[in-house]
Amino acid sequence: MALLITDQCINCDVCEPECPNEAIYMGTEIYEIEPGKCTECVGHFDTPQCVEVCPVECILVNPEWQESKDDLVAKYRQLTGKFDAAIAASADGADLAVGAQAKANSASPA
Ligand code: SF4
Ligand code: SF4
Repeated sequence: MALLITDQCINCDVCEPECPNEAIYMGTEIYEIEPGKCTECVGHFDTPQCVEVCPVECILVNPEWQESKDDLVAKYRQLTGKFDAAIAASADGADLAVGAQAKANSASPA
């Protein structure tokens, strides 16, 4: 799944330069994520970098973009033109998105 930024964003500018896919941009009022470019950092890092640095934990899973780990690996390849056997293997192993999901869920309003 791609991630999204909620209206809790304080426009602190911290996440945008951290995105390896240049998926984060300044929208009309707050920063936004282009879901077609967000791989949850799969292929680049073990955890979503924007979630790691956001001071207000306003980056959640985008429910409109349901994607499996295989889908995210395929998106990574499409975006970068790279084929990494280790990344491909990880698609069958540990779910790198679990951390982001858990953090996102913990940040969700009750
Ligand atoms: S999860 Fe990674 S790829 Fe997606 S917007 Fe955040 S930093 Fe960019
Ligand atoms: S790090 Fe969080 S608060 Fe800062 S601009 Fe990004 S989404 Fe907004």
